[in-house]
Amino acid sequence: MPNMNPKKCPMPEQAPDVRNKNFDEVTLGYTAEMAVEEAQRCLNCKNKPCMTGCPVQVKIPEFIALVAEGKFLEAAAKIKETSALPAVCGRVCPQESQCECHCVRGIKGEPVAIGRLERFVADYARENSTEKAVKPESNGHKVAIVGAGPAGLTCAGDLARLGYEVTVFEALHTAGGVLMYGIPEFRLPKAIVQKEIDTLKDLGVEFVLNFVVGRSETIDELFGDGFEAIFVGSGAGLPTFIGVPGENANGVYSANEYLTRINLMKAYKENSDTPIYHAKKVAVVGGGNTAVTDALTLARIAKKVILIHRRDTLRASEIYHDTLMETDNVTFLPDTIVTALLADPPLSSAADRAGTAAPLQAGAVLDAAAASPAHPPRLSGIRVRNVKSGVEETLPLDGLFVSIGRKPVTALYKDQLALDASGYVVADETTATAIPGVYAVGDLRTKPLRQVITAAADGAVAAHMAEDYLTQKR
Ligand code: FAD
Ligand code: SF4
Repeated sequence: MPNMNPKKCPMPEQAPDVRNKNFDEVTLGYTAEMAVEEAQRCLNCKNKPCMTGCPVQVKIPEFIALVAEGKFLEAAAKIKETSALPAVCGRVCPQESQCECHCVRGIKGEPVAIGRLERFVADYARENSTEKAVKPESNGHKVAIVGAGPAGLTCAGDLARLGYEVTVFEALHTAGGVLMYGIPEFRLPKAIVQKEIDTLKDLGVEFVLNFVVGRSETIDELFGDGFEAIFVGSGAGLPTFIGVPGENANGVYSANEYLTRINLMKAYKENSDTPIYHAKKVAVVGGGNTAVTDALTLARIAKKVILIHRRDTLRASEIYHDTLMETDNVTFLPDTIVTALLADPPLSSAADRAGTAAPLQAGAVLDAAAASPAHPPRLSGIRVRNVKSGVEETLPLDGLFVSIGRKPVTALYKDQLALDASGYVVADETTATAIPGVYAVGDLRTKPLRQVITAAADGAVAAHMAEDYLTQKR
């Protein structure tokens, strides 16, 4: 008999007033007993509706049935048949809009907690499996991967298992992409990401760090080095700014820069050697995952955090939502836009200096007379307007974190790869670009959804496309 409890088995987590003061993982994961209890809620539906929502087609009912029987290692192997990063995806995938929203148990109650079960199984295998990845026999063919995010890592793993000699070129000093530099420790412990990277090394994948493709070497030069296929998975790390004057004042950050300092350089630790701005009252602008991540990170450091969004709902996952409300340190300001930045010394525009009353316009300059290298302008507040009521107000602030979108840094290879009007690399769902042997994977290519799992799905598709291409070429 299935467990007909309409509610998911709750997952233990740190209490709100504890977790908002540390960077340890918020959710603590299921015990074996909890996992079995939750797995027994699954009805093992014949037509598997949950699978239609999974971008990598994890065999959900089959792995859950194995969990219900207590066969956790077998369940992990079942997931691994189609998903390269289950411990990561079990934590960061928006399951409520993917697999779980198709679950029939969701009709009269809560869906089966597919994400929590995936996480449990992957963690169990990591802690208990004695199997070690071994390098397969080489097929003698070299391939290069640009960028060590989830797209590149998945592609690297699939190609290494097929016997390719895989080299991953990564611009930063650490592999992992956004998993390492963007998503904070309290949502995704870095040891889990590192374990996935170590497994790839065991499979024979070579990582070349601090190597910017397009600058250190071009795509053509990589071909010249003997790589027969190149997979460009360099993500979308170029921040977008709001375009009001003064965004170069001290105290204004892009979310990416701030999160990189926090995650990659551990800037929240006392003994960190990277400076971090300990602002007291701050605002984050944006409504997506990155903005909410930024707000929750700041909630652990600043005294007061305001999240400003031009719409009335956030696009981030429900887990985020609850956490955000419960921390009691983040105030959500919906339907609001930033109209001006205030700074000390003040910002001024050419119009101001001419004595007119014109409001500041995008492109206005910092007041060169008042500002000096010894006393550079520092943010002191912002003007905001409610787009529905038209009411304006001034918010005194000492930190503003802009998180309204990211784009690919394609300037490095723009002469080689075709870009769409928004600056993304043109490639369809097969990931093939117009250049034979070059594939575009993950966030940098034109596509509707930019998530960890869709990036990983691209990596897997590209590996199989390339295998066909290289086999025909031989
Ligand atoms: P990335 O992860 O961006 O990796 C690209 C890598 O390429 C980077 O390591 C970069 O340094 C490297 N690189 C760039 N240029 C070069 C070059 N020229 N040469 C060599 N290397 C280069 N998605 C979810 O599903 N759930 C979430 O909860 C979630 N939260 C997020 C929170 C934040 C703060 C951010 C920023 C994103 C979040 N996302 C989330 C989105 C998700 O992380 C991305 O969709 C995913 O990481 C994209 O993977 P990728 O491999 O394409 O690129
Ligand atoms: Fe189980 Fe829900 Fe999938 Fe049915 S839809 S097989 S109940 S997880």
